[in-house]
Amino acid sequence: MFKRLVESGRTDLSIDIFEKNNKLGAGMPYSEDGACYEHITNVSGNEIPDIVTPIAEWIKTLPQDTLNRFKLDANAFNDYKVLPRLLFGQYLTAQFKLLQQQAKDLGMVVTVHYNTRVINITDKPALNKVLVEGDNEKEYLYDQVIICTGHNWPVKHEGKVAGYFDSPYPPSKLAFEADHAVAIRGSSLTAIDAIRTLARRNGSFTKSEAGLVSYALNEGSPDFRMVMHSRNGLLPAVRFHLEDSHLLKDSVLSKEEIEANRAQNDGFLSLDYVFDQNFKSKIADGDPEFYEQIKDMKIEDFVPFVMELREKLDAFQLLKAEYAEAEKSIKRKQSVYWKEILAVLSFAMNYPAKYLSAEDMQRLQKVLMPLISVVIAFVPQSSAQELLALHNAGVLELVTVGDDSEVTPLTTGGANYCYTDEKGEQHETYYTTFVDSIGQPHFPFEKFPYRGLLDHRTISPAVLKFQDEESAKQAQEKDPAKVRTDEAGNYYLQVPGIAINDNFQVIDAYGALNPRIYIMAVPYIGGYNPDYSGLDFSEAASALIIKSLVTKEDDILLV
Ligand SMILES: Cc1cc2nc3c(=O)[nH]c(=O)nc-3n(C[C@H](O)[C@H](O)[C@H](O)COP(=O)(O)OP(=O)(O)OC[C@H]3O[C@@H](n4cnc5c(N)ncnc54)[C@H](O)[C@@H]3O)c2cc1C
Repeated sequence: MFKRLVESGRTDLSIDIFEKNNKLGAGMPYSEDGACYEHITNVSGNEIPDIVTPIAEWIKTLPQDTLNRFKLDANAFNDYKVLPRLLFGQYLTAQFKLLQQQAKDLGMVVTVHYNTRVINITDKPALNKVLVEGDNEKEYLYDQVIICTGHNWPVKHEGKVAGYFDSPYPPSKLAFEADHAVAIRGSSLTAIDAIRTLARRNGSFTKSEAGLVSYALNEGSPDFRMVMHSRNGLLPAVRFHLEDSHLLKDSVLSKEEIEANRAQNDGFLSLDYVFDQNFKSKIADGDPEFYEQIKDMKIEDFVPFVMELREKLDAFQLLKAEYAEAEKSIKRKQSVYWKEILAVLSFAMNYPAKYLSAEDMQRLQKVLMPLISVVIAFVPQSSAQELLALHNAGVLELVTVGDDSEVTPLTTGGANYCYTDEKGEQHETYYTTFVDSIGQPHFPFEKFPYRGLLDHRTISPAVLKFQDEESAKQAQEKDPAKVRTDEAGNYYLQVPGIAINDNFQVIDAYGALNPRIYIMAVPYIGGYNPDYSGLDFSEAASALIIKSLVTKEDDILLV
């Protein structure tokens, strides 16, 4: 967002940035808040949106001791490699500095409030301003505010229940000796973060000359092992070569295409139309053979078709096979096309999701998202190697727990994990250590952190209208809290987070957009923005925000 502001050419803007920590750029995943040395990005340099200096170039400017600390050879580094996350954080901080210098050269006034947490925001429509309160007991007035507060990992039991962790972040807290079985809820990237740290503290990895990774336990942790618990018993798919490193970002549906489809469909964007346009038609061009197999499928046919193999094979066996497939793909620079296009679909779905009917959103959440979350996690090669090494050493297993498993924290420490397995057998297992690793939660409307916006109804819950009254009534019967009606008798499904428009402006309780307040903090807009967002999201969202902003002459605040 800051880059967009600097590049806007609007030298009359003055910008204040509030950052609760002491550095800019690194954010949560790429600083000590979200990473240790062993944690890596799941994207390579060439997949990262341009900032100022390309990563491969920046790496060459690093002092030798930094390279040594990250075990990097500057000459062997190229833009196809993933990076240690802490190093990527350093890169982002350095890029932020360059942008600050550019702003200064342009004569833009930029003030950074380090170590200042914004604790409340209140809209002041009569003044045409927004009031911001910092934890430094100061208040500030701005013409516009852009909320970019990113990740939030709520703490519920951690600190009160010994051995219970509400998330693996910051991961340094998991660097302890655990001579027992550790329960991990989740089996995707967040779980891998926990695993990489715990594994290193209780054993070590070695790589043979042939490149085979193996794992051995430390003498002090002979009984250490980790048990991942997953609803469907699946591991995420491995990173492969992407034909388009920016995932055909230009091929998302245009405003006109969305409007034309809505006009034919009672005002709703049809999920089947998006699946046809952003997935099937692209497969037809790129992989005609695969297209022949899926051309008549709806998402309800397609998902079981591609999941069948995953569900039949043992998850680690499949990981091994996928690792080999990905190696081939990277060596030959050949994509696994349908997986790549599924990532395009997920990205493309994000922006028009607010125009789906409630019924289509339910299909998206229930049918398509579980597949997308598995396929587009893009597990880096070294993580896949470590998971396989741990499994081969008998230290890592995965159990399927279905949809209604329960974890009960115990006041005496640890937690009980209760679930019913695939054969219908019930299990209750006690774990001394439990790490919740299911990923960034999407917060409900009520959990929005700035009371000033909630209490004055400046923001409203994200809802989607039902297309069909009968299906609305059925949904209401199943979960009354999630379905609401209006005076005209329309039914709405409440989805996570707050309502926003296409420019990421908040929408009030009367449906009016707020011209002063923008939000791109993903945990609070998950209903209208269901993609597993990464750096590509920040690039796309900031492009829309700047377009809407640059026409105005105002002071701007970035939180
Ligand atoms: C563990 C992890 C790994 C990831 N890895 C990748 C990856 O490899 N590739 C990828 O594309 N995406 C990845 N992602 C997705 C990630 O969402 C984005 O890459 C990106 O970091 C999001 O940036 P952000 O600025 O929105 O949020 P954040 O990085 O969370 O930054 C938010 C900033 O706001 C500050 N802040 C928060 N609250 C306040 C407040 N009240 N007042 C003042 N300051 C505040 C924080 O200190 C922080 O600096 C990862 C996500 C996680 C959680």
